[in-house]
Amino acid sequence: PTEQDPPYLRGLNAPQREAVLTTDGPVLVLAGAGTGKTAALTARLAHLLHTRKAYPSEILSVTFTNKAAREMRERVGRLVGDTVEGMPWLGTFHAIAAKMLRRHAELVGLQSNFTILDTDDQLRVIKQLIRAAELDEKRWTARALAGLIDQWKNKGLLPRDIDAGESERFANGRGGELYAQYQARLLALNACDFGDLLLHVLTILKGNRDVLENYQNRFRYIMVDEYQDTNSSQYLWLRLLAQTRKNICCVGDDDQSIYSWRGAQVENILKFEKDFPGAKVIRLEQNYRSTPHILAAASGVIANNSGRLGKTLFTELPDGDKVQVIGVWDGPEEARRVGDEVDSWQRAGNSLDTIAILVRAQFQTREFEDRFIAIGLPYKIVGGFRFYERAEIRDALAYLRLVNQPSDDLALERIVNVPKRGLGDKAVAKVQQLARAAYVPLSTAAAMILDTDELTPQARRALGNLVGDIARWRDMAGSMSHPDLARQVFDESGYTAMLQADRSAEAAGRLENMAELVRAMEEYENLGAFLEHVSLVMDNDAQRDTEKVTIMTIHAAKGLEYEKVFLVGWEEGVFPSQRALDEGGLASLEEERRLAYVAITRARRSATILHAANRRIYGQWTSSIPSRFVGELPDANVDSETTMSGGASLWQANWSDRTDPFANVARGTGRGPGWQRANAGGFSVSPTRIVEARGSAVSLGNKGRGDVSVGMRVFH
Ligand code: ATP
Ligand code: MG
Repeated sequence: PTEQDPPYLRGLNAPQREAVLTTDGPVLVLAGAGTGKTAALTARLAHLLHTRKAYPSEILSVTFTNKAAREMRERVGRLVGDTVEGMPWLGTFHAIAAKMLRRHAELVGLQSNFTILDTDDQLRVIKQLIRAAELDEKRWTARALAGLIDQWKNKGLLPRDIDAGESERFANGRGGELYAQYQARLLALNACDFGDLLLHVLTILKGNRDVLENYQNRFRYIMVDEYQDTNSSQYLWLRLLAQTRKNICCVGDDDQSIYSWRGAQVENILKFEKDFPGAKVIRLEQNYRSTPHILAAASGVIANNSGRLGKTLFTELPDGDKVQVIGVWDGPEEARRVGDEVDSWQRAGNSLDTIAILVRAQFQTREFEDRFIAIGLPYKIVGGFRFYERAEIRDALAYLRLVNQPSDDLALERIVNVPKRGLGDKAVAKVQQLARAAYVPLSTAAAMILDTDELTPQARRALGNLVGDIARWRDMAGSMSHPDLARQVFDESGYTAMLQADRSAEAAGRLENMAELVRAMEEYENLGAFLEHVSLVMDNDAQRDTEKVTIMTIHAAKGLEYEKVFLVGWEEGVFPSQRALDEGGLASLEEERRLAYVAITRARRSATILHAANRRIYGQWTSSIPSRFVGELPDANVDSETTMSGGASLWQANWSDRTDPFANVARGTGRGPGWQRANAGGFSVSPTRIVEARGSAVSLGNKGRGDVSVGMRVFH
């Protein structure tokens, strides 16, 4: 480093500089979390502009999110002064492909003003095709076909590339034919879906030499962040564009590949060296983000994966605190504890903006949101909706509001045809007209209109059923608990079945959210009190410009960093997720472990891992055991603490009576009769009463500490 260094080079270490200054030829930067890959890529962009090796319009830079693109644009702006006006080809794969496709839409039969369909539109089109093909819609769902088509598109497969084997994956071999029909239908609509953006561009580049050459010449430099999560069609696209000049620089970390479920292929890292012979591979080994304890904890976990490319990481930062592992009694205590810790962190003079709470699955945010609202702690949910704003939760709440208060017109409008029950817009409009004319609530008008012949027989029957259902649910409210009532309402309305029929990955999350909603209800005395709580929560958006704690999924946190990170719900079945455990394969478990690595390495100064001994799921207390990843943390880098009966972190059956296990146990800290401590393989175990065993035994790999085998168990 010298005095005359341009600002973007100052402070970079030798291999980072190499990544910045090796502008020509293929470069692969392969390095662990927090080693400054993104920083180097940003400096490289600044360097290319500063030295006028290329105009902004001649550089293609791909980021993983729109937010990352914005940040890179800002940082480069700062590094080279505001000489950079516009970088038209800096963005996500989707954004860049959309821009290209607009320019050449006619080459694939679209007009340049084509629409990009969202998931709902996409499903509607597919549903029509399934119906037209006279398939059983329940057996062959639109979502399943949509998922399959997405997979094909991620792999760069056109309808003509779908062979009999692939086609067999839907409706006894009709998958390929339906895919072709879907593509034709989209063209007729002058529309495309997300997967098409890249696929169409690929088709254009492959079929039109002049267009391809134009881009190959234009893009003097190509750069890609988070390269480990590119899918096949993205890779093909990059390879085509880089083929002439070969000035392509990709940065990534095989240990952070967490999107294989969306078609990402970590093998693209290996392909790179093959497809770009002579590529310079640069390894960054100094981590600038995290303290040694945090780094060692993350390394200890990821070391349990096989088939890694392998990396060395070191840091020169001071030791800092060990990773804190806290075992708590249950979910509410976990949220309370995090709230308290946030409070003391803030009191020590830190901004709430420096804190992130990372969850494995969306449904986990609910407990924290409720707690933070209760104590007035501002928070934001990144990369998703707040719990009570999610579509399925709003639908579910609309049903409950109707049961609670039949004149809630907005609620009725929301669910009148969800799930579909043959009440079209026309029928609904007629009910609305009547309601207005007679000055009565919609539900009253709905009952009234049944006595007329305004509606078609089909609509009348459907509306009659709904009106009858709502009345019945109201009657039931007196004789059962409100969570039970809610379950019944969701089942009888067909809402649960609608989500169950849907085999997409998102649907599973929606069902989890519904279960979480019922769980949340259990904390309130009655339905009215719960709905009151929800409306207060919904109204809590008056905290716009204040500092906030961030709550998000680990997936959404990729590439980001926070001073203090809470990693919550580290229990078998939550993280690793039940789905990963059910699939049982090594691959899905290793992807979960990579997620754990990503999660821990988001922390700069402080990482706190929490696990609860009990979760209440659908009214049943489920005892849970700490995540195997907790067991994989190296002892030397961890401080463990538990709020329960002195060191209990595993539970096993040893209760004689079968009464309410919590009747004698003070929540959070207590110890009921029959509690004893036992030791198993280095873990302290507090025996508790477990009535019924469910699921298979899970073994915790505790290297050097002996293996402990414990099952997931449920008690009533
Ligand atoms: P991830 O794998 O999580 O995406 P990364 O390798 O992209 O991480 P960066 O986000 O670029 O890492 O950098 C991590 C942190 O280290 C950032 O705060 C960055 O500003 C800082 N950093 C990067 N390089 C250096 C350096 N040479 N000197 C000091 N700090 C640096
Ligand atoms: Mg990065």
